[in-house]
Amino acid sequence: MRNSDLAAHPVVRRDFPVVAEALLAGASPQIRHQATTGGNLLQRTRCVYFQDVTTPCNKREPGSGCAALEGYARHNAVLGASAACVTTHPSDLAVALAAVDAQVVVLGPDGERRVPMTQLHRLPGDRPADDTVLTHGELITAVELPGDRSAPRSAYVKVRDRASYAFALVSVAACLEVADDTVAEVRIAWGGVAHRPWRATRAEAALRGTRVDELDEDAVRAAADLELEAAETDDRTAFKVPMVRNTTALVLGRLIGEVAR
Ligand SMILES: Cc1cc2nc3c(=O)[nH]c(=O)nc-3n(C[C@H](O)[C@H](O)[C@H](O)COP(=O)(O)OP(=O)(O)OC[C@H]3O[C@@H](n4cnc5c(N)ncnc54)[C@H](O)[C@@H]3O)c2cc1C
Ligand code: SF4
Repeated sequence: MRNSDLAAHPVVRRDFPVVAEALLAGASPQIRHQATTGGNLLQRTRCVYFQDVTTPCNKREPGSGCAALEGYARHNAVLGASAACVTTHPSDLAVALAAVDAQVVVLGPDGERRVPMTQLHRLPGDRPADDTVLTHGELITAVELPGDRSAPRSAYVKVRDRASYAFALVSVAACLEVADDTVAEVRIAWGGVAHRPWRATRAEAALRGTRVDELDEDAVRAAADLELEAAETDDRTAFKVPMVRNTTALVLGRLIGEVAR
């Protein structure tokens, strides 16, 4: 499935707008016509040192070191990083699929299995060369999107250095279901902050059950801060914390605005 076909599919646009928006926020039209679901999820990091073979990189060459620890850090992680690797995962689609609780169907030598999208990518730990939990010989044959009442009210916002054709500094995917003027379900995933799409489960838990008229920007920011307590930053990456907090408030505000209309 090409990214452009998936983004234009009427069922995806109607029932999973967050997925269509994430796809359209990625790369350029020409690249989206070529890129595929499996290939996009399994693309490797855009860390400049991973690509520059003259520099140390534990992901490219295990045990060689990590040039990003002291170098260019704009795309470094602030959650879940390790001393071995501080890069982030670049896929926009992966963040949206984490927010809709997608299942990745995998076929390998031992048969078929399903991997929750939130568990497909690894945190780097001491094995940053392993991006995912897939093993040798396994192919992604499908990605299943579970239909639920929150996915149709969903959105994706990507913050980047250029208005298009740039990877995320941070991104936010969110789904919201409201029943009886109360948040029945909310799912939030962050991109650009970790080695994998980061589900903000503490923020979600804080927001579930909140009355919609109390769900203002301050409430969303406070919920995001519960998640961001674990953030580790330095003066090169500290900007990401307010950026992800504010972007989360923007996205939830947009979805709440739709409820009010
Ligand atoms: C300049 C540029 C800018 C970009 N900007 C963005 C962006 O802003 N946001 C974004 O999300 N992406 C971006 N991309 C990524 C792009 O959208 C592609 O997804 C990416 O380049 C991978 O290409 P592909 O999808 O053709 O996969 P391929 O290159 O075909 O595959 C990538 C890897 O996955 C493996 N693979 C492919 N399919 C499967 C499968 N089904 N099962 C198992 N393994 C598989 C391949 O063997 C390969 O190792 C950008 C890419 C470029 C070059
Ligand atoms: S952050 Fe990761 S990918 Fe980048 S140089 Fe360090 S080990 Fe390599």
